[in-house]
Amino acid sequence: MLFRNCRLITPWEDRANGWLRIHGDEIAALGHFQAPDTHPGETVVDLDGLILAPGFVDIHCHGAGGGKASDEQGIATMARFKARRGGTAFVPTRQSVEPEWLGLVEHFRQEPPHGALVLGAHVEGVYVNPVCIGGLSLERSRSAYKEGELDDVLARFRDTIALMTLSPEIPGGPELIRTLVANDVVASVGHSCVTWEEFQAAVSAGLSHATHLFNATRYGYPPPERGLSRARLDEMVMLTDDLTSEVICDGAHVHPIMLRLALKAKGLTRISLITDATFTAGLPEGRYARDDGEEVYARPDDVCRSVKDNRVLGSNLTMDRAVRNAVRLMGVELRQAVQMATINPARVTGMSSRMGSLEVGKEANLVAFDERLTVRLTCVRGVVVFDPEDRCPPCVHRRVVD
Ligand SMILES: [Zn+2]
Ligand SMILES: [Zn+2]
Repeated sequence: MLFRNCRLITPWEDRANGWLRIHGDEIAALGHFQAPDTHPGETVVDLDGLILAPGFVDIHCHGAGGGKASDEQGIATMARFKARRGGTAFVPTRQSVEPEWLGLVEHFRQEPPHGALVLGAHVEGVYVNPVCIGGLSLERSRSAYKEGELDDVLARFRDTIALMTLSPEIPGGPELIRTLVANDVVASVGHSCVTWEEFQAAVSAGLSHATHLFNATRYGYPPPERGLSRARLDEMVMLTDDLTSEVICDGAHVHPIMLRLALKAKGLTRISLITDATFTAGLPEGRYARDDGEEVYARPDDVCRSVKDNRVLGSNLTMDRAVRNAVRLMGVELRQAVQMATINPARVTGMSSRMGSLEVGKEANLVAFDERLTVRLTCVRGVVVFDPEDRCPPCVHRRVVD
């Protein structure tokens, strides 16, 4: 299959008059000007000058399009919805190490749903400091790690769990980090009021990522005296080059000034855009019921709020909007915003040799969008899964989601 007449964002380069050829599920060749002659019987997709970029990778999402990461139907719904918004891979996120859930994620990792690929599970905050619980559940959290207690889970699901978000300051925190890292699970700090000493111990133990920078962080104990300055997790993460981090770029969870500060401190290669979205992301403005019975109010350009007391209960962000917001709020070029939504998160999860950029030999996970960042076509492993304008003729390479 040959895509031609497009502006290619690789994301290291942004050049007009591009073309890209797919063979099977991989990128076979790409270039500029002079598109190659088509092979006999080859499917040709003319993109009319649209931007062609690597598909978006969301490493932190609890739901989308009405689907929840907690159940089979929900993950399948998320996969279809994400494809419609240019997503080609995602990491279902939940506060759980239950074998039933991890088994479900593993099932989708082995047998991809129709739409975006499932890369693994993000276990957010089973081992979490109750003081920084944020939107997580106290009942589902454990306030200490005892050596060996995850051994059975890791023996079965070490390849399934991509990331685990934890508070390093809980008893056994450094031991937990060492155990995760020994099992190739990314240890990420979040929902934490760690002190500098605890933080340094955690980094020595193998901590490598920070979950939703600036959200659900507090000062460690003792709290700062009036008139004295102290550092909290956010500053520690920004200071430490070894750590990558993620931000919720919806313009509400993090003030644009903080986004710019994070970019200045971490540099372009160490920030990933995430949605941290709940199931209402992408749904029309209105009231919806959560599984726990709580009624929420969702509006696409705002956070998800409790109807009862207006408190924040998650984001309604989608990755295409996160990229658009990054350009507007962080002041970066489109190419750089795409980088933070593709190769950076792919690197965090160890997937960058397979996906995240337009390079020969990588999976053909692609998104085509216009200058306003409206997604017009999505392709996952060489199959066009979203194509509302019928740019791709009916063929074996086209199987669109409903
Ligand atoms: Zn969180
Ligand atoms: Zn989350």
